[in-house]
Amino acid sequence: MRKHFDAIVIGAGAMGSAAAYYLSKRGQRVLLLEQFEIDHRKGSSYGYSRIIRYAYDYPEYVELMKDTFPLWFALEHELGETLYHRTGGISFGPANDRSLQATIKAVENGGIDYELLSIADAQERFPQFRFGSDFKVLYQPDSGFISASKAVRGHVKLARRLGAVVKEGAPVDQIQVNSNSVNLSVAGDRYSADHLIVTAGSWARSLLKETGIDLPLTTLRCQLNFMSPADWRPYEAEGCPVWGAHVSERFRETVYGIPSHAGSGFKIAFHGGAAVRHPAEIDYSPDAENVEALRPFMQAHIPGIAQSPVKESRICLYTQTPDEHFIVDTHPAHQHIAIGAGFSGHGFKFSTMIGKMLTDIALEGATSHNDRLFKISRFTD
Ligand SMILES: Cc1cc2nc3c(=O)[nH]c(=O)nc-3n(C[C@H](O)[C@H](O)[C@H](O)COP(=O)(O)OP(=O)(O)OC[C@H]3O[C@@H](n4cnc5c(N)ncnc54)[C@H](O)[C@@H]3O)c2cc1C
Repeated sequence: MRKHFDAIVIGAGAMGSAAAYYLSKRGQRVLLLEQFEIDHRKGSSYGYSRIIRYAYDYPEYVELMKDTFPLWFALEHELGETLYHRTGGISFGPANDRSLQATIKAVENGGIDYELLSIADAQERFPQFRFGSDFKVLYQPDSGFISASKAVRGHVKLARRLGAVVKEGAPVDQIQVNSNSVNLSVAGDRYSADHLIVTAGSWARSLLKETGIDLPLTTLRCQLNFMSPADWRPYEAEGCPVWGAHVSERFRETVYGIPSHAGSGFKIAFHGGAAVRHPAEIDYSPDAENVEALRPFMQAHIPGIAQSPVKESRICLYTQTPDEHFIVDTHPAHQHIAIGAGFSGHGFKFSTMIGKMLTDIALEGATSHNDRLFKISRFTD
């Protein structure tokens, strides 16, 4: 017997859990399918924290963030839990760095509160950091972090409360697309729906091939590290900003981090990693080499942690598009399929909004939020 739903969501990471919530809020009978368990550690969405910030080098993301903050606040209210931690944030790097220049311009034009700090001011306010004499330092007070695992679990909890059926250990192994519906095979069970949302993270490329589209998505194996300094106080969320260092010319990649929160350790990572063909190839054991490669950066810019031991390292996946903008769109051949993919290592802060946009797109064919950068046609036309 095949069970029928109004809408099925494949993948319960940040995006799929949010989509299941907004679909359910719209009165849809929803099935959310996750191949592993909710909040598992093999994808992109688990963990203590993800940076949230207006400070972006494209005005579209600044605008989208303005729409997204109220959704996080509404979600917190409905859950009765705190998800957003406001620490303030700094972006720093050589004054001639194009991305940093574009970020300053976008927050200025977007009417966002910000300060450009002199090196002396920045040094005084953030003594944990060392800034080069040729640097610019942008401070944005609304930056902070979202509790990642809590947000995924929160969306799932509310979706369930609204009637969604959530199945874990439920890998979709076949998608048959009909003119107005889809049939799915899931480890021997069969389901159908009027609408399908595919939010399968690093698995999206192989899964979507079955529907006749090959999106240019690449999986990166990324490592994040939690440092354990002898003196924790300067590195705790209460007195330390989230940060992003535009230093790829000097240190291989952009480097970013998040202060310690509830004993997590001070998070530091390269914004990037090694490409693999499919997530099945990923070795999830972290490498000591990754931390060692970060130590010269720490020595130069956060010397107080440069010799610290590592509390823990983890592997997490980025799913890259060639231009690092997201894919949030209708399937080019099937109007009743919506796709959310390619979040390129910066999607979490928008995840609750992406769930809403995918719901709009699945049910109405369009969203009122700015999705100009996220169209599939940029790869297919
Ligand atoms: C180290 C790291 C740091 C990051 N830092 C930030 C940050 O500071 N700020 C920020 O905004 N973003 C950040 N990101 C990016 C953000 O976390 C991701 O963009 C986001 O989590 C992507 O979510 P997703 O739902 O697309 O993917 P995933 O979380 O991978 O979810 C996809 C889900 O689909 C399931 N699935 C796949 N195939 C099937 C199938 N056939 N059947 C059933 N289920 C299936 C998978 O098991 C998985 O659970 C970071 C990412 C990483 C890895």
